[in-house]
Amino acid sequence: MIVLLDPHASSAQVAAVEAELARLGAGARRVQGGTRIALEAQAMGIPLARDARERLLALPAVDDVLDAKSPHPRASSAPRLVVVGDRTLGKPEVVLGGAEVVLCAGPCAVDETIADGARMVRAASAKLLRGGTWKPRTSPYSFQGGGKRALLDLRGAADAVGLPIVVEVVDEESLEAAEPHVDLLQIGARNGQNYAFLSTVGAARRPVLLKRAPGATVHEWLLAAEHLLLAGCPALVFCERGIRTFEPGSRYTLDLAAVTLARAASPAPIFVDPSHPAGTRALVLPLALAGVAAGADGLLVEAHPDPGRARSDAAQALTGDDLARLSLCVASVAGAVGRRYACELVNHESITHSHERPDRPVTPEDRRRDRGADGILGIQAGHGSDVDRPVPHAPALVGPGAG
Ligand code: PEP
Ligand code: MN
Repeated sequence: MIVLLDPHASSAQVAAVEAELARLGAGARRVQGGTRIALEAQAMGIPLARDARERLLALPAVDDVLDAKSPHPRASSAPRLVVVGDRTLGKPEVVLGGAEVVLCAGPCAVDETIADGARMVRAASAKLLRGGTWKPRTSPYSFQGGGKRALLDLRGAADAVGLPIVVEVVDEESLEAAEPHVDLLQIGARNGQNYAFLSTVGAARRPVLLKRAPGATVHEWLLAAEHLLLAGCPALVFCERGIRTFEPGSRYTLDLAAVTLARAASPAPIFVDPSHPAGTRALVLPLALAGVAAGADGLLVEAHPDPGRARSDAAQALTGDDLARLSLCVASVAGAVGRRYACELVNHESITHSHERPDRPVTPEDRRRDRGADGILGIQAGHGSDVDRPVPHAPALVGPGAG
């Protein structure tokens, strides 16, 4: 057991903790982790009382009591329920990690269609609006996101339909700009192992959606969460978004075993992003449904009212009708695995369950816009890889840019 102490505790208060540990039959050793001081407590022969944790937490010097056997004690005891938004402040709110599977959807990058996009996402029964305003792109020549202006547009569009928002932050500047406006901060795959940045975001003390880095094991993903939580993040949501494998047919390989593995290691909610492993819209629906069947608490899906105009990841963007169909199918799968999903489609009378092709096939225009690593070439060049590789079957699509 590790007893984490309040850094401002007086020596008398710390002595009171040591005395309580002695009463509980435990020996204590002081350890220093970064700027934090903790007592490592070990039972001396007899097992610790069942209420040991509660007794220690009642003392003023004790910040937290963690399981010393876990290599990521904070991730292992992270909150199961994550409240995003704040109803008490008159803002929209959604609870993640409860019985209900939650759909979060929106464009890869926020653009001038965001008001339509927000209405489309709301009409498909999504409970959270996503939108990238700082885009970590593989190529420095690709669209890097609309920044603060786009963020305010996203906020306005979300408020108009009553949805909280999730937005990726990529550095201290974007974190500072996003903090007052964003309900759930997203750490993207590329920053999933940037430990200094994880600590910086954790220190903002806001809920975070943590994507798995494409080269990280589940254990490393849990330790990334530990960095966030140790720095002060109060609650987080894991998000599996595919890992790098040798399969060239999809952009990444969605690792559904990771959902079960992470679930066994942490109570925190786990989302699945079916869009980035798909790379193309035809794969998004089956991956989404598989994610829900595997026990995901929610989905993070890219959708755009007019994918041909999307400035990034156009090829994997669902249309409004695709998203409504996905929502309807998610309701069935969620029910089959004992979860709830509130699907109330608006203006989608013609949508039925169907695993047929999505409404809008990928067009050459999508490919042109998305040329490169983060785009459709992921599916032809394989491994979501960078450009400048010959693309079998699609020579006309090879371009110098990167998505
Ligand atoms: C995103 O969700 O916008 C994104 C960039 O995804 P990832 O970090 O998983 O590549
Ligand atoms: Mn994207």
